Amino acid sequence: MTVEATNVLDSTESAALTVNERAAAVINAGKIDLNCKLGVFTVIGTSEPQVVRLFPETCLCSAQSACYHVTAACMSVGLADEPQSRRINLMHLPRQQRK
Ligand SMILES: [Zn+2]
Repeated sequence: MTVEATNVLDSTESAALTVNERAAAVINAGKIDLNCKLGVFTVIGTSEPQVVRLFPETCLCSAQSACYHVTAACMSVGLADEPQSRRINLMHLPRQQRK
């Protein structure tokens, strides 16, 4: 039991910091900008700046999932920190509103 729990943690926290922690660090350091003309965010990452679009969520970095650039952009404009639970809520919402 304890071994399985440790493995789950290792897979989600491949680096020392989680995606949310990295995103928060980017925002705290002021390393994110919104280009209103293009509608894109510029996130100064650890290696080089990345261009992030939120609608739809797009990032040009090599990470296929759990990209902290997109997470930082979401957090900077007050979108949910937990996209998974938010997604579930959105799926249930239309049914409850229909009568
Ligand atoms: Zn990215």
